Parts: sequence; structure tokens; C-alpha cells
Amino acid sequence: MRTTTTKKTEAGEALKVAATQVTVPSKMTAAVLYGSEDLRIEMIDVPAVTADEVLVRVRLALTDGTDLKVWKRGYHAKMIQPPAVFGHELVGEIVAVGKRVDSKWRIGARVIAANSAPCLRCYHCRRGQENLCDDLLFNNGAYAEYMRIPGRVIGCGPIGLNYVRMLSRRGVRVIALARRSAPLDVARRLGAVATINVTETADVVSAVKALTEDQLGPDSVVEAAGNPATWQQALAMVRRGGVVNFFSGLPSGTRVEIEPAAIHYSEIKLISPFHHTPRFFREALEAIRRGDISARDFVTEEIRLADLPQAFARMKARSGEIKLAVRPHAVARHPSLREFQRRILVASQSAAPAFL
Ligand SMILES: [Zn+2]
Repeated sequence: MRTTTTKKTEAGEALKVAATQVTVPSKMTAAVLYGSEDLRIEMIDVPAVTADEVLVRVRLALTDGTDLKVWKRGYHAKMIQPPAVFGHELVGEIVAVGKRVDSKWRIGARVIAANSAPCLRCYHCRRGQENLCDDLLFNNGAYAEYMRIPGRVIGCGPIGLNYVRMLSRRGVRVIALARRSAPLDVARRLGAVATINVTETADVVSAVKALTEDQLGPDSVVEAAGNPATWQQALAMVRRGGVVNFFSGLPSGTRVEIEPAAIHYSEIKLISPFHHTPRFFREALEAIRRGDISARDFVTEEIRLADLPQAFARMKARSGEIKLAVRPHAVARHPSLREFQRRILVASQSAAPAFL
């Protein structure tokens, strides 16, 4: 079972054959997730694409926090069930186009694909909450030489906006908290006015409040660390009348002890956004185009696909990585990191934001 989507598709429909079509091999190297901390590099079939799908030759794939979480856990209830091809952030070019795909998607076009696509028909989709779609289609398989992109998935933008960067640019004074110094260095570079290393701070809540007006606490707290203790800290540090954004997802069955009275009588608003909508994805790509977000700030290293399993083990030990760029195709000459980062940016800017 090595499909790139969670949906069944009729396999083997003929592709558009054009003189310009590139030759695609029948086998490819890919990272296949088998379970908890069990990621294997294997030779598997290049995905066959149906009439409404395209095949992308992956130029670069990026690691992210969700992949690290899934690698540790071995699955994600919504996004991926092993064994399955893995990875979901990529840039590449189209090498095969299904018969019914819109003609604007041509062979050779540089594209970025979202990792999910809503149905646009259900109750939630019709109310602009596509991230809660009853039939959200997820797509994995970016850590591979080729990846199938289903017709429903949108072709634009990177996955995550960096809160520090985006909020700072909008004039928000951001205090960043982390366990390690490396991400805090980046946070300062991206505009945080203060950083707190929580492992070196006895009372994190007081330390944060001390940095705010009249020591009341922040107007809003974004919890993106992903553990019950930080959920509690977020509630403890927000000011009265403030907002707590529980951005991280905790595993099913997790319980967090909270004091309802503190929430009610302090009128604290709780929000917990999940995933992304197509609009969010386009805005993210626009942010890159405008220069609000730079790939340089996030990619710390380039690795080969064969080194990916070890890379996840390193990320688990938190050796300072932010995002690793995985290059699935061998290149004759390894470019310098600066050159490689420039290429990511160029690739991001040349991708067309539109429906696939
Ligand atoms: Zn829907």
C-alpha cells in the first residue's frame, strides 16, 4: 500500500502524450513510513496518475514539525496511516498531466502543492471553514523523486506562516519562548522584541508578565509547543480579556487540567485553529512574494533523501534544525547553501497560485 493519497483512485488511465513530455522511470527512490521512528528508503513504483491528476518531479522537499511528530508517533489519525509514502512540503515541476487536467497545468511548470484539499461542497466548506471539511483529502509523498498530486489539491504556497515574522511585521510586540537557544536566535532575527529560554527560567509565567505593560500579561498567547504543560502556561500568562490561541495539536486522549473560573471571570477567549484553508495557503505564497517571509530564515541544511531517517533522529534530539531541505534527485554539483536557498526562493516565486 503505497498510494500518495488517502483516497482510492482508478489507476492506470492514459496520460496526455506530448512530444515535449519528459521520460519518467517506472521506479523511484522514496521514504516510506512504516510506524513509530521507522522510516525506510526504498525503491518503489512511480505513482500512476489518473485523468485528473498530475505527476511532479520533486526538486526539493522540506521537513516540518508535523512530520517530526508523525515520525515519532508512527501515524496521524487524519493525515497518514502507515505504510505510506511520507512528506508533504515540496517544490518541483510537472512531468505528466492527466487527460482531464486544466490546460494551464503544463509539463515543465514549476509548482508547489498543498498537502490537503477540501471538497468545497460540505457544510463547513460552504461556510468558509474548509480546514474542517468533512472530506478533507490529504496528500503525502514529497520525500520521493516523484509525487502524484490529486486534482483537488491546490497548487500554491508554503505550509506555515511564521507567527513571529508575520506578527512582528504587523507591528505586534512578540515575546518568543523556547527550550533551546537556536530557535530563539532566529526569533530575534525575525523581529521578536524579547526571548525567553524556558529551561533557564524558573518562573516562565512571571518572566513573560514582567515584559508586558503593568505586568498584566500578553494580549494574546500563541501556544505552538504541543504539550499539556504549555497549554496551562498559556492560560496562566495571558492578560484578563486576552486571547489564547492553542495552535498545536495534542494526541487524542490527552487531558489538560484547567481552572474554568480563571477563564470565565477573566473573560479569556480560547481559539484553536487547525490546519489551513486554501485562502491561507495563497496568502502564505503572497507573503513570500512580497518578501515578508524568506526561505533563508527557515532552511538550515540540505540533505540527501538517503539521509532522511537519520535526520529525523537528529531532529528528535533537537540539534538546532529548523527545516531541512531534502533533494531527492542526485545533482552533479552541490550548490552552496546560499545558492540553494536562493533557488528555493526563486522556485517559490515562480509557482502559479491557482487551483489544480
Ligand atoms: Zn468539505
